[in-house]
Amino acid sequence: MKILVVEDEHRIAQSIKKGLEQERYIVDVAYTGTDGFDLSSTEEYDCIILDLMLPGMDGLEICRRLRKNQNHTPILILTAKGQTQDKIEGLETGADDYLTKPFSFEELVARIRALLRRPKYVASQTLTVGDLTLDTQTFEVQRNGVRILLSGKEFSLLEYFMRHSKSTLSKEQIITHVWDYSSDILPNTVEVTIRNLRKKIDLPFHTLKPLIHTIRGFGYSLGE
Ligand code: CA
Repeated sequence: MKILVVEDEHRIAQSIKKGLEQERYIVDVAYTGTDGFDLSSTEEYDCIILDLMLPGMDGLEICRRLRKNQNHTPILILTAKGQTQDKIEGLETGADDYLTKPFSFEELVARIRALLRRPKYVASQTLTVGDLTLDTQTFEVQRNGVRILLSGKEFSLLEYFMRHSKSTLSKEQIITHVWDYSSDILPNTVEVTIRNLRKKIDLPFHTLKPLIHTIRGFGYSLGE
């Protein structure tokens, strides 16, 4: 799951990024409203955390423009204490939730999880495809009852596959959702990560049907 943090206070932005990465989210940061708007209109995010007071373009304007452009990515706005009017205005312009600064990191994560659980997403902390399960909170992955240890990137990739298990995902979609904007991606990075994932979730279970499929010319899919 990929999250954009739009926050001009570097210290706050970096601590949110660091904390969310420990929760296995992929995080991009924009430090100005203009960059935030540009990134959110060109990249695909699963959630946007939006500060209101920003240089360049304020958070409310970003929110208004995204919704006007039919971008329905869940938006959580961050407001400073006492900006009740902004809060109301934020929700009216199409934000999904808000959090008042200073906030606890636990609450931020809980609210993000709640936003990601909305109908567009799977409504459970455990994702299941066939005999494969992935717990998005304990990070435990099992196939046929056998625990599988994955690297952070393999976990993110598998979670993305499992949330879209009925679709064929192109390499571009996978890169957009599983790698952050600043990562250096080599032409074969996706292939290598998928190969490693296969070694862990398909190869050891050769008596079971493989779950990861290559759809030549289109991309990859996960399913029975
Ligand atoms: Ca600010």
